[in-house]
Amino acid sequence: MRENDIRFFQHMLEERKEQILKNISGSSRELDELHKSHEVMDEGDFAAVSTDNLINEEILVAQRRELEEIEEALAKIKNGTYGICEMCEEPIGMQRLKVKPFAKYCITCRQIAEKSPA
Ligand SMILES: [Zn+2]
Repeated sequence: MRENDIRFFQHMLEERKEQILKNISGSSRELDELHKSHEVMDEGDFAAVSTDNLINEEILVAQRRELEEIEEALAKIKNGTYGICEMCEEPIGMQRLKVKPFAKYCITCRQIAEKSPA
């Protein structure tokens, strides 16, 4: 991959990372405030808030996972293995990386990985 392309993806990954960090800290603060305000709510409100919390926490888990994948991709940029499929060691297509800059596998291997049991 060319230097320019790598810089492009590095920028993309860093922007996404910043966005996620902001989301995570924002959501954590919201959750804290909700926990603090539970005392003043009646049961109906409490149920509504619990559902919201559940959704929030699921999003948080997903965002933390994405953050890990971004960190891995940034580490690969540093050691020069970015954009190479972890399974077949062929380059991952640029189009695929533009959609998912932290992709670990090329499209073919991704399909194999999805079909095989975990
Ligand atoms: Zn592959």
